[in-house]
Amino acid sequence: MLNAAQKGDYAYPAINVTSLPTINGALKAFAESKSDGIIQVSTGGGQFASGTAVKDAALGAIVLAEVVHRLAVKYDVLIGLHTDHCQPKVVDGFLRPLIAETARRRAAGQINLFTSHMLDASELPLKENMTLSLELLKLCAENEIVLEVEAGVVGGEEDGHDTSGVAHDKLYTSPEDMLSVYETLNGHGRYMFAATFGNVHGAYKPGAVKLKPAILRDGQKAVTDKYGAAAEFDLVFHGGSGTPLEEIRETLDYGVIKMNIDTDTQYAFTRPIVDHMMKNYAGVLKIDGEVGDKKLYDPRGYLKKGEQGLCDRMKQACDDLRSTGQTICGKV
Ligand SMILES: [Zn+2]
Repeated sequence: MLNAAQKGDYAYPAINVTSLPTINGALKAFAESKSDGIIQVSTGGGQFASGTAVKDAALGAIVLAEVVHRLAVKYDVLIGLHTDHCQPKVVDGFLRPLIAETARRRAAGQINLFTSHMLDASELPLKENMTLSLELLKLCAENEIVLEVEAGVVGGEEDGHDTSGVAHDKLYTSPEDMLSVYETLNGHGRYMFAATFGNVHGAYKPGAVKLKPAILRDGQKAVTDKYGAAAEFDLVFHGGSGTPLEEIRETLDYGVIKMNIDTDTQYAFTRPIVDHMMKNYAGVLKIDGEVGDKKLYDPRGYLKKGEQGLCDRMKQACDDLRSTGQTICGKV
C-alpha cells in the first residue's frame, strides 16, 4: 500500500475509530470510494473501547482491531490497521503489549493484529527520540510491522497531549533533523515519518494555522540529494483539520502517503446526531409524564445517522487525498 501511494502520488486517509459505528462508517466509505485506507486506534480510543469499568488502552485496541479484521473481509479494499500517537511514557503499557500480541498471533500461524504502529517520541530531544525509535523499529521489523515516527512538534491538543505553549519556530522540522531521522532508521525496517510543518492538532478557523508544506519538499530534497531517490520518506500529515485543499494536494507531491483524520470525522459523526435530538426533542425525552418515542431514542437510529455522516466525510477525504478509485485489492 505504501509503495502504491508513493508511486501514484496519493495518500491514505487514516481515521481514528473508537466504536462499532465509527468502524462501520469508515469501512463503508473506503469501499464506496474504491480506496484502500488506514484505520487507527489511539491510546484514548483503546481505553474508551475497553469500557469505563476496565479502562485498558491496549485491551481496547486489541478488541477494536479484532472487530476490524472480522468486518473488513466483507469489503473489496485493503485496510491497514494502525495505532496512533504513543508517547514514551505509555510505550510499555500500550505499544509493547500490542507488538507482543502480534508476535503471539504470528507464532500461532495467524496474520498480524496491527500492520503498523506509531511511536511519538517527539517530546524528547531528537537524539533520544531516535534511540527509542530505532529500538522499536527493530522490534516491529521482526514482526513485519511498519513503524511511524515523529520529529518536531505538532501544536495543539490531542487525546490529552497538549503542546499549545510551544514556540512557533519549533513547529517546523529542519532538513538537518530529517537527515538525522533517515541516517538513524534507514536499513532497520520499514517506517513512516511524521515531520512537522506547522501542523496543529484540533480544530481551527481557516487561516489560523500557518502550514509550510515546502518544509517537506526541502527535507526530502536534503535526503535524496545525499542518498539518492530511493531514500525518499513515506511522510505522514498530522494536525491537518481545516487545511485548504490545495495545501493538502501540495503535500502529496512531496511524499505524504498518510493523512490523519480525526477532528473532522468526530464532528461529521456528531452533527447528524445533534440534528436528530433537536428535531425530535419531544420524542427522545420523557416530558410531562409522557413516555417519549421508543423509535427515536433507540440508539441504533441516531448512531446510524452518525455512521453515515462519518462515512460521507471520509469519502471526501479519499477524494481530497486522491485515493478514490486507487484500490490495489486483488491486484497485488
Ligand atoms: Zn503527531
